Amino acid sequence: LPDEFVQALPVLHAIIQAGFEAYFVGGSVRDALLGKKIHDVDIATSAYPEEIKQIFRRTVDTGIQHGTVTVLQQDDAYEVTTFRTESTYQDFRRPDQVTFVRSLREDLKRRDFTINALALQHDGTIIDLFDGLTDLDNKLIRAVGDPNERFHEDALRMMRAVRFESQLAFTIEPATALAIQTQHQLLSKIAIERIHDEFVKLMLGQARRNGLISFIETELYSQCPGLAQAQAALKIIAELPATPLVNEQDVWLLITHQLNLSIEATKSFLRQWKSANELIQAVSLSLPILQQFLAHSPLTNWNYYETGSANILAANRIAHLYGAGEAEAVLQSAYQQLPIKRRSELAVNGGDLLQALGLKPGPQLGQLLAELEKAVVAATLPNQKKALIAAAEKLSHI
Ligand code: ATP
Ligand code: MG
Repeated sequence: LPDEFVQALPVLHAIIQAGFEAYFVGGSVRDALLGKKIHDVDIATSAYPEEIKQIFRRTVDTGIQHGTVTVLQQDDAYEVTTFRTESTYQDFRRPDQVTFVRSLREDLKRRDFTINALALQHDGTIIDLFDGLTDLDNKLIRAVGDPNERFHEDALRMMRAVRFESQLAFTIEPATALAIQTQHQLLSKIAIERIHDEFVKLMLGQARRNGLISFIETELYSQCPGLAQAQAALKIIAELPATPLVNEQDVWLLITHQLNLSIEATKSFLRQWKSANELIQAVSLSLPILQQFLAHSPLTNWNYYETGSANILAANRIAHLYGAGEAEAVLQSAYQQLPIKRRSELAVNGGDLLQALGLKPGPQLGQLLAELEKAVVAATLPNQKKALIAAAEKLSHI
């Protein structure tokens, strides 16, 4: 048993002591069997939420209507979820209502893929009711039960399939893949935020190419914001070198670049995908820099200053996929050598100029400061108070 499970064993034992069943389930069991690093250990139990809360001293009602109680144990937190079925699906989305049941089989049956429907018992025995172990060996993503029905119940599962294909470097079993292709239009029923999360995980996965090819071939892409006409662009992205992407910014920079979007179109595309404002800002800053790398046009000090090193490095990583860009160290040292990195580092401020030049506050002051800032960044003026005031005097007489 991997350490993460051993640490969580007291939780399992306490539930069993109280007369209920409890198992490790979901992604952690799958990832442990694959020898991957496991994040959050999830526990499934026959006990109802109220019963769980009576067993443990410290609990949090994280999603009690869905049967989930978080159990706090020293520094660890475990999500303990009551066995449940999701029998009444409406609108092709996960139901708001769930029915608690006492049977592990029922709980495993409602899970998406066989590799996600394994349970691990306290003694290390694997409970495998749907041949998930065989699929794990064969690296296959196979729906539990009839794939058409399962995607009809919850269309997000189709995105999860292509996401796991990329993350795990598995293949989608043919009948499951066919069902996705048949039902791809149902994805339009799913909240963009949830599609967004799965798509980003796909793009950050080790087998991005395979995940993307399925995303294209099943036509899932056609149900995604701004991608209905993007088949050719997505194919080009799939064929780029397989270097893993580092973060979400890289993902969207790559996509918006290959879609040939202007800055304005990029912003509205990313808003349609419900991206965070910070991300929209970062992508908008790095996009023109990426274009400069691809055009082999050298970056100016002002580019570095205005764009910031993280955005420059993101643009550079994407440029590398297209055979352009610089060594990261070169860019980092160029940034480090900027005379100033932000306006507050300028050796004069507005007050200094008002005093020295006898100006009144107003737009002229802002313009003067901006000119001094440009000159200092470009290293055509030293960042020294005297020199800057002298330059400002000259400028203000023009
Ligand atoms: P990750 O490594 O991304 O956390 P995971 O398999 O743990 O992968 P989660 O979204 O954390 O994925 O879900 C935990 C488990 O819940 C899954 O392994 C699966 O058994 C079940 N599950 C999650 N989403 C669905 C869904 N839409 N339909 C059916 N079962 C699901
Ligand atoms: Mg998980």
